Amino acid sequence: LRLIYEQRARTRFELAQETGLSRSAATLRVDALLRTGLLVEDGATATAGRRATNFSFNMGAGCILAADIGVNRTKTTVTDLAGRPLAVLEDEIDIARGPSEVLGRVKARFREHIADTGFAPDDVWGIGIAAPGPVEFATGKPIEPPTMPGWDDFDIRGWFRSAYACPVIVDQDTNVMALGEQRASWRDADPFLLVRIDYGIGAGIVTGGTIYRGAQGAAGDIGHLRLRGYKEMPCRCGNVGCVEAAAGGWALIRDLNAEGFSLSSTEDLIRLLSSGNVEAARHLRSAGRVLGEAVAAAVNILNPSVVAIGGPLAHIQADLLAGIRETLYQRSLPLATRHLHVVTASRDETIQVAGMAMLVADHVTSARGLDERLAKRTEPTLRNTAVPGALE
Ligand SMILES: [Zn+2]
Repeated sequence: LRLIYEQRARTRFELAQETGLSRSAATLRVDALLRTGLLVEDGATATAGRRATNFSFNMGAGCILAADIGVNRTKTTVTDLAGRPLAVLEDEIDIARGPSEVLGRVKARFREHIADTGFAPDDVWGIGIAAPGPVEFATGKPIEPPTMPGWDDFDIRGWFRSAYACPVIVDQDTNVMALGEQRASWRDADPFLLVRIDYGIGAGIVTGGTIYRGAQGAAGDIGHLRLRGYKEMPCRCGNVGCVEAAAGGWALIRDLNAEGFSLSSTEDLIRLLSSGNVEAARHLRSAGRVLGEAVAAAVNILNPSVVAIGGPLAHIQADLLAGIRETLYQRSLPLATRHLHVVTASRDETIQVAGMAMLVADHVTSARGLDERLAKRTEPTLRNTAVPGALE
């Protein structure tokens, strides 16, 4: 099934060749998979004078639910098994309201998505939740997330598992943003580094086609690198002199307010920058220079082929990217920057929720994920009894 999903084989003959199974053994397995509905016949081709039936993976055999939880906005989606969104919904909700209220809203949206697309709750193969803070990947728990009061150590996976009998994956939003961006625009870039500048600063790394998280899930946190020679301001992480404390959205707001502006959010800052304010542009360019130092450090360690700068502050004007380039090329090794592309990420605001769904799709269609799913389908009790009450 995985071979067909990856389009490495389409016919019984090709399956036999790829797996080393005899043709009759391959036929037995194909027949079993056809009965599950996961495999469908998809036309025929003539090979060596014989007509051979083509098979394809039925991407509509189930669905994936994903949510991108933001600081004050949450997006949800339902996708097919390839992670292609069928619908996206957006809600304004403050993350500080805590996990029960925010996830309760997500769960209600998931119910709507299922009903709208005609799937049954049992057709949900996997759930993905992206959060705007550090997540311990093995447990799916946020660990002391600075922008998520009340979420520390909360069992997000357990919370959804009480309603859905499927895998639940939780990841940091910059990671899935990097995955979504790499798959959408830079499939050949390896490693791919996405740096996101928003209220805070984060980064995601994609290598070998998948997210690089490090041992615990903390890889890529370049916002808290310490850089000497810049304003050594206190950071919200408790240290001093972090990149974020000089170049994050919150630091720009702090500096501009000290000069007499009265900004209270990233949206205010974006409005000021978009209006062409000279002071604000100067601060953004200097933030770019600081960020360039941090990106140079990452470039020297990772040697990426593409660095994409994303987040709402990346799209306003050229000052940020110009500032980044100014210090990045000075501070990186020539070999690391020789073929390096430094680009602005796409403006697509659904890239994170789509990336989250892609991550779940990778898992549920892996050989192990498929085995787990198929093992479950052989238990008729699960389909008949566990579902209706479980959603309440
Ligand atoms: Zn810090």
